[in-house]
Amino acid sequence: MRKPIIVGNWKLNKTISEAVEFITAVEPLLHDDADFGVATSYLALQASVQNARRLIIAAQNVNENDSGAFTGEVSVGMLKEVGVKWVVLGHSERRQYFNETDASVNAKTLKAVANGLTPIVCVGETLAEFEAGETEAVVRRQTKAALSSLNPEDVANLVIAYEPVWAIGTGKNATKEIAQNVCALVRDEVKVNFGVDAADKVRIQYGGSVKPENIKEYLSEADVDGALIGGASLKVDSFKAIIDAVKA
Ligand code: PGA
Repeated sequence: MRKPIIVGNWKLNKTISEAVEFITAVEPLLHDDADFGVATSYLALQASVQNARRLIIAAQNVNENDSGAFTGEVSVGMLKEVGVKWVVLGHSERRQYFNETDASVNAKTLKAVANGLTPIVCVGETLAEFEAGETEAVVRRQTKAALSSLNPEDVANLVIAYEPVWAIGTGKNATKEIAQNVCALVRDEVKVNFGVDAADKVRIQYGGSVKPENIKEYLSEADVDGALIGGASLKVDSFKAIIDAVKA
């Protein structure tokens, strides 16, 4: 049985004090039926780690280099020093606005895993690709590329988030059938490249307009092992409703 994993992606939201306030309010509400986490801004990571007991604290990105002339970037060593153990990689907003490619997502994934960080690797098609019937090809390509050169054991332990770009922040969520079908394709692509054991163990989230009202539907699908949640993860009330909704 794969344990569900629910992670809030805060994007460019919440100062350090806002992050600490949220974490302090949410910690007593957590339960063991799922893993829960939030991906904070770089600046809020240290204070978030210090205030979290059970909540996973993730970075939203990391640079693939250890050091050097890369203005504005943050390395895995810097994340590790403040106690961060998880990192979201290849989010569609990073691909779209910051020119991240399959190759750079792979380099970041390899760097994270080699340094003991657990990645949440994001894949997903754009609206144009969805409408052109290219979802399967795109998602298989992104999955294969992002995980290239990893060991099956490493793949078994990481998380993949399927996030159709057309469903992110739009209120237009994918149906649970679409989420299930594509998460199953992602799992099959893991199987093709890393074997049945890695495919059975890897946790695959759906993301895109997940809310307290629809999270249960997604989690009832066989290949959907959790959710990556933007907007609905920003308010304690709404995150609490999600925590309560996934109670077994
Ligand atoms: P959303 O964002 O829940 O606001 O659609 C999801 C994400 O970008 O991870």
